[in-house]
Order: sequence, then C-alpha cells, then structure tokens
Amino acid sequence: MLIVMKTDATAREIEHVATTINAAGLRAHVLPGAQRTAIGITGNDAPINVALFESLPGVAEAIRVTKPYKLITRDIREEQTVVKVGDASIGGEELAIIAGPCAVESRTQTFAIADAVSRSGARFFRGGAFKPRSSPYAFQGLGEEGLSILAEVREAYGLKIVTEALDENGVDLVERYGDMIQIGARNMQNFSLLRRAGRSHLPVLLKRGMAATLEEWLLAAEYIMAEGNYQIVLCERGVRTFAQHTRNTLDFAAIPAVRRISHLPILIDPSHGTGKNYMVAAMARAGVAAGADGLLIEAHDQPEHALCDSAQALRLEQYERLVIEVLALHNVMLDLTPVAVE
Ligand code: PEP
Ligand code: MN
Repeated sequence: MLIVMKTDATAREIEHVATTINAAGLRAHVLPGAQRTAIGITGNDAPINVALFESLPGVAEAIRVTKPYKLITRDIREEQTVVKVGDASIGGEELAIIAGPCAVESRTQTFAIADAVSRSGARFFRGGAFKPRSSPYAFQGLGEEGLSILAEVREAYGLKIVTEALDENGVDLVERYGDMIQIGARNMQNFSLLRRAGRSHLPVLLKRGMAATLEEWLLAAEYIMAEGNYQIVLCERGVRTFAQHTRNTLDFAAIPAVRRISHLPILIDPSHGTGKNYMVAAMARAGVAAGADGLLIEAHDQPEHALCDSAQALRLEQYERLVIEVLALHNVMLDLTPVAVE
C-alpha cells in the first residue's frame, strides 16, 4: 500500500503515520517529493486494511498497489530521484560520467587513467578490484589491494569511486574504500547481495542482467529499496541476443521504458554494450541523445595490454574526445523541449 500525504502535512504527521505503520509490524518507507510526501509500506504478506491509515491526520489517500513494484515507481515519487554521491550527483541536470579501466591492474596504470578521467571533468572513477570473470583462470582482480589503490585515487583527485562487490563481504570492503557499490550483470539476481546493498549507506549502481527483462531488473532494484536504501542508479549494459557483431545488444528503449515506470536515474554502458572500441563513441552519443542520465565508459592507458576487456577499452585520447562530444550533446538536449509522449 501507498500512503499519499496532503501537500500541507506536517513533519509530525508524517512521522506519526510512519510510526503507526512500523508499530503494526510493517515497514514504512518515507519518500519526500517536491509536491508531497508519499509513504510506501512493505512487509505485509496479505492486503493491508486501507481504513487503518486513511483517517490518520495529514493523510490524503491510501492506495492499494497492484503493480509488482512498490518503491521504485513514479506512483510513490513523481519526480526523478537525484542520487547523491558525496558532492557529486547522478540524475540531475549534469551528465554523469563514470570512467576508468575494467580492472585495477596496478597503481601506475590506475593513476595514468585517473589523471585523464579527472582532467575530462568527470566526477566518477570506475575500476574493478574484484572481477566476475567467465573463466576461473582469467585475472580476477587485485582484491583489497586494488581497493586501496582506488582509495588513493579518491584522495589524489577527489573522484568518486564506483567499484563492484561480488558478494556480501565485498560490500563491507567497498564501504571501507569506495563511494558507490556496483552490482554487476551476473549478480543482478543475487538476492542476498541485493539485500546487503540495501542495508548499505552507499548508493548502488545496478547493472541489468544479461538476460533480464525490464521487470526483473526493476524488481532487483526493488529488493535494494525494500531494505531502506533509496539511492540506486540503473545501468543498461546490453543483453544477449542472436547478434554476433556486438558483445551484447544495447537496449536503448530501456531508457524511456524505465522513465515511464520509475523515478530512478538510468545510465548507458556503451563499453560492455558493444564490446568493441570502434563502436563505443557512437553508442555513447546515442545514449545521451536518448536521454540517459550518464555514461559508464571503460578507458585504458594501454588498451592492448589490458588484463580485462581490452577490445572495448578506449584509448585515453579517444576517451577525452568523447567526453567533449557527449557534454556538448547533453547541452543541446537540455535546450530541447521534450516531445510529448503518451
Ligand atoms: C564491468 O563493469 O566491468 C562489468 C563486469 O560489467 P557487467 O557486470 O555489465 O558485465
Ligand atoms: Mn569490464
């Protein structure tokens, strides 16, 4: 159920409704909006009696939720969520650029790339310390040593660190060294990991599973939100299809589809979405033109020697040029009045 508070409801009235919900053994999720506050209720196995809450002071209406999602939807929060990562944000007017290598390989490599990322004006640095590799014999990442290199990058450049947690223990580590937890495509339905991320104070970047429907992906975000973490950014990274000219097929339609249902920001990852260096720039521009809130891009100082995903890594000069292009394109997008859609 969803409780919509009156526009003039006081903080005390909102607090009282939340306390009443929690006292009934349910969980209240208070989501303030520009116009009004809505309170989502989770934790019930059977339908809740609407009358219990409808008459509380400050309540405008209590609505039974019939959709599979309760918290990620625009029903509870009309305006888009802006995810705050320290003093940077994703989902506002600025185009968020999250860039860096696939994997942290060494201090020298990481700093060479971070230097270019910082100069480009991007606010976020990505790099895996724990890599989910198809083969157990492939480079698995530097582990905690990689995280401490990322923490040094944060210190040196003020970049926000986005890095993957493969398991619950990994979340503990990212909380110690990073700024944003990445949950990868292969783990999109790792429910204990989603729940753990939902109990974190850090925002979460949730990549789409490589065979996930939109509904499954949004329900994965719902798992995180249901635990009380509302700071989630979705990332479309392509899905498996019969196509052989790309590593994955980037689903740009996910952008308007997500927007229609959810208030959460959405990024495009043209690197994993294509798997090919020469395609990344075109697909990054397409993502921005389609209205993505940002991009996740893999770049490397020596792509030919990259230990992971070398075929898709941009050379640093390619990356720098691309950022100039997408920022210019994003400015054009801001000036355009969106065409009304049904
Ligand atoms: C990555 O971002 O390096 C990664 C492993 O991505 P995905 O989970 O989308 O495959
Ligand atoms: Mn990668």
